[in-house]
Amino acid sequence: MSETIAHWIDGKPQDGQSDRTGPVFNPATGVEKARVAYASVEEVDRAVAAASAAFPEWRDASLTKRTKIMFQFRNLLDAATDELAELIASEHGKTQPDARGEVQRGLETVEFACGIAQLLKGDQSQQVSTGVDLMSVREPLGVVGCITPFNFPAMVPLWMVPIAIACGNAAILKPSEKDPSLSIRLAELFAKAGLPNGIFSVIQGDRVAVERLVEHPDVAALSFVGSTPVARAIYEGGTRTGKRVQALGGAKNHMLVLPDADMELAADAAVSAGYGSAGERCMAISVVVAVGTAADPLVAAIQARIPAVKVGDGTMPGTEMGPLITREHRDRVASYVEGARDEGATVVVDGRDQKFDGDGFYLAPSLIDHVKPGMRAYDDEIFGPVLGVTRVDSYDDAIKLISDSEWGNGTAIFTRDGGAARRFQVEAQAGMVGINVPIPVPVAYYSFGGWGNSLFGQSHAYGPEGIDFYTKAKVITSRWPDPATSKVDLGFPENE
Ligand code: NAD
Repeated sequence: MSETIAHWIDGKPQDGQSDRTGPVFNPATGVEKARVAYASVEEVDRAVAAASAAFPEWRDASLTKRTKIMFQFRNLLDAATDELAELIASEHGKTQPDARGEVQRGLETVEFACGIAQLLKGDQSQQVSTGVDLMSVREPLGVVGCITPFNFPAMVPLWMVPIAIACGNAAILKPSEKDPSLSIRLAELFAKAGLPNGIFSVIQGDRVAVERLVEHPDVAALSFVGSTPVARAIYEGGTRTGKRVQALGGAKNHMLVLPDADMELAADAAVSAGYGSAGERCMAISVVVAVGTAADPLVAAIQARIPAVKVGDGTMPGTEMGPLITREHRDRVASYVEGARDEGATVVVDGRDQKFDGDGFYLAPSLIDHVKPGMRAYDDEIFGPVLGVTRVDSYDDAIKLISDSEWGNGTAIFTRDGGAARRFQVEAQAGMVGINVPIPVPVAYYSFGGWGNSLFGQSHAYGPEGIDFYTKAKVITSRWPDPATSKVDLGFPENE
């Protein structure tokens, strides 16, 4: 019998307690490597109860104590990087260097959270009125739910959990059921770092667990990252039940290439950002917008690079692109290549032509030219190794295309013209903009978020906005009057 990946509640794994389970595959072999527990409403309630009980003491823990634990967690995480990367590769399918990269980016958020004493400093004004002082502080919210997608099993939880905890909250993570093991390693490392029981819990499962977190009256806030329809539902459900919600959704990121760009550099970037992690990144480039005469040389340069991309088992040295997450997802992605021809696009490279031994969920890179709005290959988030090229006549046409997209996560321009780049920086309708940078994911001390259907809620993830999201403001006005001068005054207090 295969292992069942359990929940982690009140500082302990909850082995063998769930009735429902689901499969966890190794996408490189197609073999079921484990089962994962699917939480019931009662199990979620147990995690929330443990978190609620642990919260007051953690809220009152000194900043020194929280900082020490976060530093300790940072060191343990850093030391475990290779082991975690291996685990990610075995359940997600991405290559080990790519997995190490995601752990490193997550580690940077932990390092940001190590500065919590500085980040939580409030403001103070003396003598705002005669004898009156004012102080503003930020206090934790309570129990926060963190619901994360399959594509970054380490980095996305680490965008949320360290900041929520450093701010004094109790966090409950509901990771993707497709690659759940890493969440338990995070829980073990937090426990080893000295985090009190109940301050970090993991609830495995599907929508039953998520919907309970959304409804639960003792959950104060929800951070979600995943697809747009679920993000919208979480935002609507969470706000309806009075929660603070940040829900990051899907994406379709455009890379605009002007004719003056270095085509070799642009092609390198398009191939790296289009096919890296098999296109299963929310900041992947999925549409190259080629302006005017850029199109022919750019398509040729991308096409020339594709045969050299080494597709295979992500745990094997030298592999550049691994399999997709599930068989169903691989087949869905392949259906866009199948359909593109019928819709009038040109399939320049058909990834289905490359055959693989075994039952892994592989699909080699595809390149589709002449993709246009109105075609499924343009309109949908494919989330796989399928790069579309849309040809336009002018920069203005390109910027309109980007503005008209329902998503607005990231976008990039490739050019050697500083004036055009500056215009793009101002005019691009997206939350994260790259100039000759195809995947402009902000560093940990800035915040990450898109526009349009890529983010529901006001707050971007991690960085300073993460601190604001996981805390509420309190303003304290104080005076120490001489009782001898006291009198009844029913007027609205005026400052003097
Ligand atoms: P998903 O929306 O299917 O799942 C995300 C989480 O929601 C998982 O924990 C899953 O168990 C849960 N879930 C799934 N269906 C649900 C439902 N009907 N009700 C309640 N919960 C549900 O996303 P995914 O396939 O795991 O991840 C890929 C998606 O995430 C892509 O759309 C990608 O663009 C997006 N993503 C966005 C960002 C970003 O920062 N904007 C980052 C990473 C991934």
